[in-house]
Amino acid sequence: MRVVIVGGVAGGASTAARLRRLDENAEIIIFERTNYISYANCGLPYHEVINIDTLNKRVEVKNLLTSDIDYVNYDKLVLSPGATPILPPFYHIDKRIMTLRTVEDTFKIKLYVEGNSPKTAMIIGGGYIGVELAENLTKLGIEVSIVDMQPQLLNVLDSDMISFVHKNVVSKGVKLHLGHAVKEVKVSDRCLTVCLDNGCQIDAEVIICAVGVKPESKLAEMAGLKLGVNGSIIVDEHMQTSNPDIYAVGDAVQVKNIITGEDTLLPLAGPANKQGRIAADNLCGIKSEYQGTLGSSILKVFDLTVAETGLNEKVCQKNNISYDKVILSPLSHASYYPNAKVMNLKLIFNKNDYQILGAQIVGYDGVDKRIDVIATAIKAKMKAYELKELELAYAPPYSSAKDPVNLAGYIIDNIKNGLVKQFEYNDLNRL
Ligand code: FAD
Repeated sequence: MRVVIVGGVAGGASTAARLRRLDENAEIIIFERTNYISYANCGLPYHEVINIDTLNKRVEVKNLLTSDIDYVNYDKLVLSPGATPILPPFYHIDKRIMTLRTVEDTFKIKLYVEGNSPKTAMIIGGGYIGVELAENLTKLGIEVSIVDMQPQLLNVLDSDMISFVHKNVVSKGVKLHLGHAVKEVKVSDRCLTVCLDNGCQIDAEVIICAVGVKPESKLAEMAGLKLGVNGSIIVDEHMQTSNPDIYAVGDAVQVKNIITGEDTLLPLAGPANKQGRIAADNLCGIKSEYQGTLGSSILKVFDLTVAETGLNEKVCQKNNISYDKVILSPLSHASYYPNAKVMNLKLIFNKNDYQILGAQIVGYDGVDKRIDVIATAIKAKMKAYELKELELAYAPPYSSAKDPVNLAGYIIDNIKNGLVKQFEYNDLNRL
């Protein structure tokens, strides 16, 4: 069996690794248009697949160094082409406007920063990549501004939880321009001037656009494969596309949210890697299934850790889900053991059946393990009050005898039994 894989990073490399383990004789060819491949069996960098001939089961490949065209037959084809950054209309007007997706992009940014020592940088888009860039550029001594048309950074968090992040990044010197869109960028030798829709003008020596990604599905569209949300590739639970000889995985495919059942996109590495393994299983006759996504993610923001899983309030409201929530601020470990730090933990659950819907945590230590425990509890369909029963590992440097996750369970148990009534910050005026 010859399997041709388009894209040699997260999903493509995972497919190749699993395929090789399951079938020592399979011929595996990865085409990757950049110079970087995570895993290479027979990996060909600087080769771009420019067309799929589904009738003759072959791909048309361009050698990006020589421009030579070649045709390669496949028995099965796996598409893992990822996503591509969304570029604002002003992106091409100046070389000092950049984006960050590939290893080559990081070199371009690094080269510019080292060669020109900019004092100011503007990041357009306050998502994961924008916020991570803000931290790293600030650490190089650059004065960083972030502009985002949303009223907050990191839209996956609710406004109450993101306020902790806003406070932190502002305290580190990052300037936030939220709730305003960029109207135009003016270019001069000295700098770029970003003009916002509120009339504000901000000078910056370099601009990095991080306004989101869209599925890289041009090839799939040309091959006549069925497309879904935002042009993503539709696959079944075996990662098979509408063409039985073509599988697709990663940022380019449409997935199902396991709580709402909605079709959605989730451009993250965990799902891409798992889907790659599932595609390889099915190619080798093992009927593995991708059951959908929860959307767990985590981010380092200066000294903070920000993590979330499942649904936030905004999504619950959009889906008319009747929910309740608890917000608590426990310590990361026993208070008497040095360096315990407060974390803010919000847990959202179904008001009727107490199904756990989602959680958001902002803190310093131990955020990662708490979010992972809750993500596991959601997958196991535990009720929110059952979190009190989880027997989690405890010693003073790591946790408390009642772990923060247990504490959330206790509060929800009290709510269920009518022992407490909650008031929220927005009740204050009325009270
Ligand atoms: P990719 O890993 O992007 O691989 C696709 C590859 O296909 C690309 O290298 C592309 O060059 C190649 N390709 C596309 N079309 C063709 C073609 N026609 N011919 C040949 N090659 C082609 N996710 C997390 O979960 N956690 C993180 O902390 C995290 N951090 C990130 C930080 C940055 C800066 C970026 C950009 C992304 C980050 N992600 C993170 C997202 C994660 O990288 C992606 O979700 C994951 O890599 C998707 O895997 P994929 O295989 O679908 O696509």
